[in-house]
Amino acid sequence: MLSFQPVPPLDTVTAPPLLLAERARHMVPSETRALFSMAAREDVVSLAGGMPSPEALPAQALRTVLGDVLGTDGPGALQYGSAQGDPVLRERICEVMAAEGVTATPDEVMVTVGSQQALDLVTRVLVDPGDTVVTEGPTYVTALSTFAAGQARVVEVAMDQDGVVPQALADAFALCAAEGRPAKFFYTVPTFHNPTGRVLGADRRREVLEICRRAGVLIVEDNPYGLLHFGEQPHRALCADAPDGVVYLGSFSKTLAPGLRVGWVRAPRALADTLVLAAESAMLSHSGLAQRAVSRFLGEWSWQGHLDAARSLYRGRRDAMLDELAVTMPDGVSWTVPEGGFFVWLTLPGRLDARAMMPRAIEGGVAYVPGSGFHTRGGARNLRLSYSYPTTSAVRQGVRRLSDVIRDEVAGAGTHGLREAVAR
Ligand code: PMP
Repeated sequence: MLSFQPVPPLDTVTAPPLLLAERARHMVPSETRALFSMAAREDVVSLAGGMPSPEALPAQALRTVLGDVLGTDGPGALQYGSAQGDPVLRERICEVMAAEGVTATPDEVMVTVGSQQALDLVTRVLVDPGDTVVTEGPTYVTALSTFAAGQARVVEVAMDQDGVVPQALADAFALCAAEGRPAKFFYTVPTFHNPTGRVLGADRRREVLEICRRAGVLIVEDNPYGLLHFGEQPHRALCADAPDGVVYLGSFSKTLAPGLRVGWVRAPRALADTLVLAAESAMLSHSGLAQRAVSRFLGEWSWQGHLDAARSLYRGRRDAMLDELAVTMPDGVSWTVPEGGFFVWLTLPGRLDARAMMPRAIEGGVAYVPGSGFHTRGGARNLRLSYSYPTTSAVRQGVRRLSDVIRDEVAGAGTHGLREAVAR
């Protein structure tokens, strides 16, 4: 007769040890994520997160669009699809990129889960542990997390008011090559940069393309904000003038809705094929529903009208932030003047440290992202302010509160300075 050993009660079963892969040890929470919980307090005006305004999210239009999609093509929308993405959407994406001078064909485009996935896949297929990625300094915080997870060495290149400094970029490439660790790619947000809001000037674009071409370094152009320009015309994408040397990452997160999680990558053909293989192993296929909704929105709703309304909303908030900064900030504080996108980059006077100031700012009812999160090192005197999410009056209130906090800090720093002087 068979007899069974009694199964031990669950609480006596010891869990196996957690044997994390080396790459998981490099996955660290981003500065912004940690801040979201603090900034969510009702009494705090958050100028921290770079989220679109709720008023710019076309909920009613998408409700109709989703109904139409399910009504006319329900089984298609709910079925598995290809990892490269819906062909109709890829055609529409080519039309969207044409506004920035890019000539692309649908076979060069792959749909991704936001441009964040595009960046992750590009990093996976191009970067081995220890490889060098060159970035602007500062750069987009989650790009730094992605490169850290890929165990890349990140080399930052200085920016000025016109974007990355060309000579510094050329020097960085030369130094990396001389060390025997040449750059795998140059990651850049040339238009309405996150976190500084800056734009790489037109002449600089040509210079940067030439420097990368000469050094044989691929450019990864991340451009989620390009169509949110406050001037008349969009800026010409880097990809428009060097399609073989540039991988372009796009997104509908800022222009339509981040909850749809639809972005894309346009890559030179050879790389595009490899990216599809990487996407297959990452997520098999996309949401057919979200892709069809975006496609239909682009084709049948006033995409241009929607963009115009979003631009004017964000321009109004940007103006409110700049006005209030000019009126309230003490001497010695400086900031960038963005011509599009979501962000202002502020520099504190003297020895003030934005991260150390953060608890006082929260107490004072305002949140921001300390600049050090956007650098591998440095950035202590900087902070990022976003005007995209709060209402115009909240933007003004947040800046007034911040300016009070900075005034107190300046006074405190003055006192410390005085004490030091007396002690000496
Ligand atoms: N790149 C940059 C520069 C961003 O600011 C963001 C979002 N904050 C992303 C990529 C990722 O956006 P998503 O995945 O929603 O397209």
